[in-house]
Amino acid sequence: MSTRNNHVVIVGTGFGGLGMAIRLKQAGFHDFTVLEQANGVGGTWRDNHYPGAACDIESHLYSFSFEPNPGWTRTFAPQREILAYLEHCADKYGIRPHIRFDTAATGGAFDERTGLWTVETSRGGPILARAVISATGGLSRPSYPDIPGLSTFAGKTFHSARWDHDYPLEGKTVGVIGTGASAIQIVPSIAPRVGQMHVFQRTPPWILPKADHDISPEEQEWLRRLPVLQRLARLRQYALHELMAFGFVVDPRILAFASQLALKYLKKSVPDRALREKLTPHYTMGCKRILLSNDYHRAIQRPNVELVTEGIAAVTDRGVLTKDGKERPLDALVLATGFHAADAVAPFTVRGRGGRDLNDAWRDGAEAYLGTTVSGFPNLFLIVGPNTGLGHSSMVFMIESQIAYIHGALRALDARHLRLLDVRRDAQERYNQRLQGRLANTVWSSGCSSWYQAKNGRNTTLWPGFTFEFRMRTRRFDPRDYELVPEASA
Ligand code: NAP
Repeated sequence: MSTRNNHVVIVGTGFGGLGMAIRLKQAGFHDFTVLEQANGVGGTWRDNHYPGAACDIESHLYSFSFEPNPGWTRTFAPQREILAYLEHCADKYGIRPHIRFDTAATGGAFDERTGLWTVETSRGGPILARAVISATGGLSRPSYPDIPGLSTFAGKTFHSARWDHDYPLEGKTVGVIGTGASAIQIVPSIAPRVGQMHVFQRTPPWILPKADHDISPEEQEWLRRLPVLQRLARLRQYALHELMAFGFVVDPRILAFASQLALKYLKKSVPDRALREKLTPHYTMGCKRILLSNDYHRAIQRPNVELVTEGIAAVTDRGVLTKDGKERPLDALVLATGFHAADAVAPFTVRGRGGRDLNDAWRDGAEAYLGTTVSGFPNLFLIVGPNTGLGHSSMVFMIESQIAYIHGALRALDARHLRLLDVRRDAQERYNQRLQGRLANTVWSSGCSSWYQAKNGRNTTLWPGFTFEFRMRTRRFDPRDYELVPEASA
């Protein structure tokens, strides 16, 4: 009997980690461990439970292709339904027995002699594995703003991704910093509850109406009886999102129509000219994420809500001081200030061939081959790695593409009795040169600042094309792009 170690470690239990684990199970491979630092599955959908949290991609599309859910109650499902869906997937496919909860991966070191990774964990000792799949998510590390005095604020402070539901907001004076995708869901949800709200806006976002509606029990029943209906709805949504990609990556001028739509919507929803001017974006639509909302403008016009655009000078022990010298006393401060997405930081300390640190390899910006493998770090795979993010469609589609590719690589490792496979440096460099060249002609390079870019301005997060292009590129694992070292060789 072979004593070869083929164990696989997966880190994270969001769509990426669970999807990968399910794929392995479906292929009859059970020799894997999933590490999860929290005490439940769900990743970003477990952590982002702020009031109003919901998806801004339609749920028929924002779900696994192999596990359609006819039970979505809204076109854009709320966070609790998406979390329940992921919990259902973990149960249905028997993933839970593989998961070590409350256990973080704290480090990984590759031994070239054995072709094995030693994964250090925060609990229960290290694990030896042939391959490591990191699925820790692109938006999992909250970004706290670098505002003078923030730590001196005497009231309650929390980040949107670390919501404290035990803190009662009723009647309180609340400040919200940020007007991104999280804030525009939070503000309308809590505005009716709080006494007074001040929304501190630095850059107005582009907002389009959200075609969101209830899916009635009758409709759900039809979807259950005729699954083809749901597949058609998914296909339609997929095609519409890919159409958007034309504007993002082919010619931003195509977005002019959508910009007009957004400005018309703003005009209709905000009659006050001065307020409307404050809410009008002055950068190319799509450069930052386009937001969808039917209730943000209404909330901003409530008598107990103020949109503050003067710019924050500092946070004091009492509240927020703006650049015009006005201090607004607050009971609580919500930081809807986003995540560290583009910073080139490995999810945990990762040492590849020759002990090289992944953070060192990424000193000038994170990069990978097909967003999945990094030269010098054999048998390591990243789900939602560099330049796999999207500005226009469902990340679950990208994740499933990566899962198929990684599965192909794992099969090659096993079937060819490889000690290691390592993406060739020249393949990785060629790929990234082309990718960055394409990105230069997209809307994301049209001059705004966004979380898509690293500090040096390099876009390390987004895929610069249609999602079907990525699907085609990752459909088959091509060993010619890799250095393959067989088991027996010294
Ligand atoms: P975000 O889009 O990065 O927005 C952060 C907001 O905070 C921006 O308005 C930003 O202003 C502001 N900000 C940051 N630092 C600041 C400072 N020092 N002073 C003043 N304002 C500051 O973060 P997010 O809203 O959490 O969304 C992040 C991503 O998560 C989204 O793009 C999306 O991909 C995902 N998301 C998805 C959903 C969904 O429905 N599926 C919901 C929430 C989030 P500037 O624009 O001026 O930088």
